[in-house]
Amino acid sequence: MKVIIAGAGAMGSRFGLMLHHANHEVVLVDGWQEHIDTINNNGLQANFNGEKIVENIPAYNQSEIAKVDFSADLVILFTKAMQLDSMLQSINSLLHEDTKVLCLLNGIGHEDMIKKYVPYQNIFLGNTMWTSGLQGPGKVKLFGDGSIDLQNLAQGQEQAANTIVEALNQADLNAKYSSNILSSIYKKACVNGSVNGLCTILECNIASLGASSYANTIISQIVDEFIAIASAQNIFLDKDEVLTQIKSSFDPETIGLHYPSMYQDLIDNKRLTEIDYINGVIVRKGKQYQISTPYCNFLTELIHSKEEILGVR
Ligand code: NAD
Repeated sequence: MKVIIAGAGAMGSRFGLMLHHANHEVVLVDGWQEHIDTINNNGLQANFNGEKIVENIPAYNQSEIAKVDFSADLVILFTKAMQLDSMLQSINSLLHEDTKVLCLLNGIGHEDMIKKYVPYQNIFLGNTMWTSGLQGPGKVKLFGDGSIDLQNLAQGQEQAANTIVEALNQADLNAKYSSNILSSIYKKACVNGSVNGLCTILECNIASLGASSYANTIISQIVDEFIAIASAQNIFLDKDEVLTQIKSSFDPETIGLHYPSMYQDLIDNKRLTEIDYINGVIVRKGKQYQISTPYCNFLTELIHSKEEILGVR
């Protein structure tokens, strides 16, 4: 399959590398020139479960799309949420009427943005448990296993969704068709919406957050707000199931000792966070449905304040 990875940071590099390794034709598109130059000069270098590997994959800056002569079957969107609009504008000329577009970003409601650029029947939404870390331009650290759930947005596109699943599985990406992707996206957003913002504000790892009885009360309120907004859209979540999933992340034997990606973005790397696309979406949709969302609102404003104080906003 001919695949464009639109947003080739940590996750886009993982997917690009694994798909290329499985003999799919892959092109990387990104906005970070140093990263692109390093990939084009030295290949994409990875520490892949302890083994050093290099894949030579063509990479382009999204500002030089006119140079790209590639008719893609599939575009995988992997920008950070706040970069999605500009990426979609950049790659617009590469999309033909049959190009399928799979969005695997964290957060809620990206389809509202994507459908401004992509015909509805070509949009596919997914959720991934793979992880990845950038070690510098052109270098990624890829450890552990993961999975992908995905589904077509438009009715009648199930076969196309299954073709994407097959292509991803040729690259051992462990994908499966989901019959309720919006619910799994909301479930993951509940975990991110509870753990990411709080660990970033409290400057603690996930296990320390879980050990705080106060934090657990806040998490329960945040989850209630996510569930209320989801159910206003006929997406149903089981609170006990969501809380069990959140609590499993507290375990120091699994990921408890990790600092969430939002912490790494803001505290370690002084980059903007995706808060507006996680808790912030709940606030915006709350206004739309007249549902009160004070915890998500406060957390979003606290993260914005911290972004300002640290000079990234
Ligand atoms: P990323 O920050 O690694 O990359 C996103 C973009 O930022 C890319 O265009 C990248 O080139 C650019 N970028 C990264 N570091 C940069 C730097 N130092 N200077 C300039 N530009 C830089 O993002 P990601 O972790 O790949 O996440 C993409 C999406 O996938 C997000 O929605 C994220 O929440 C989600 N996600 C991430 C993980 C993970 O483990 N990283 C897991 C699941 C989902």
